[in-house]
Amino acid sequence: MRPLIIAANWKMNTTPADAGELAATIASRTEEPGVIRVICPPYVCLAAVRDALAGKNISVGAQNVHHELAGAYTGEISAAQLAGLATWVILGHSERRRDQLESDELIGKKLARAISSGLRPILCVGELLAERESGRAVEVVATQLRGALAGKEMEALLNAGFVIAYEPVWAIGTGRTASAADAAAMADAIRATLSADLGWGDSAEVVPVLYGGSVTSANIADFLAEPAIDGGLVGGASLKPDEMAGMVASAAVTARARAAAEGKTA
Ligand code: PEP
Repeated sequence: MRPLIIAANWKMNTTPADAGELAATIASRTEEPGVIRVICPPYVCLAAVRDALAGKNISVGAQNVHHELAGAYTGEISAAQLAGLATWVILGHSERRRDQLESDELIGKKLARAISSGLRPILCVGELLAERESGRAVEVVATQLRGALAGKEMEALLNAGFVIAYEPVWAIGTGRTASAADAAAMADAIRATLSADLGWGDSAEVVPVLYGGSVTSANIADFLAEPAIDGGLVGGASLKPDEMAGMVASAAVTARARAAAEGKTA
């Protein structure tokens, strides 16, 4: 059974002065069994969030990492610098593909660094609106996956707890979501790419696929009702404790239902 995951991407929001309190509030409002919770604050808030979450069974993630461990890379942060601050990392977010022009090849290098450094990666993929409207969404996402995963050992990725987030670019921060059925179809297509194109076979079924794009407590149950979807990567709503409480509670219901269907306990 794949884990249920709710990952919060705080983007360029919060400060070291207020991030710890927000994280602690979210932690106390989201204590549910069977759901992996991850908070990804800005780099400068990582220490405050780590301290606030100590002993609370919520993981801390970074929103990016450089592919080199050290060197002349002004303004960048390496995996070595994240040691002790974060155990997860978001890679290939569409805002970085758009603003920092991150290519699939570069994202692949970051992915290699993440797994060799013990960071659990969430690899973001997703198509532009024009690409969906022209019927190319699956092809675009498959190209992103092949580009980032080329040359990577499947075992190393699986051991690192590799997670994929399907985030249609047109749904991020827009209030518009993919339909649950379309998101599930893409999750199936993602696993088919891993299984057939990349030769992962049945191991593709082990990889959690999250949906991201204007997820809220009001719509997450629609996505979680799809067996192919294992949680959410959440931006705007993840800054609101009430929203996080609702989303994690919904994921916990799903975790219990999926465990019961397999004769297990979440
Ligand atoms: C995101 O940042 O990955 C995201 C999906 O943002 P939002 O939930 O605000 O659309």
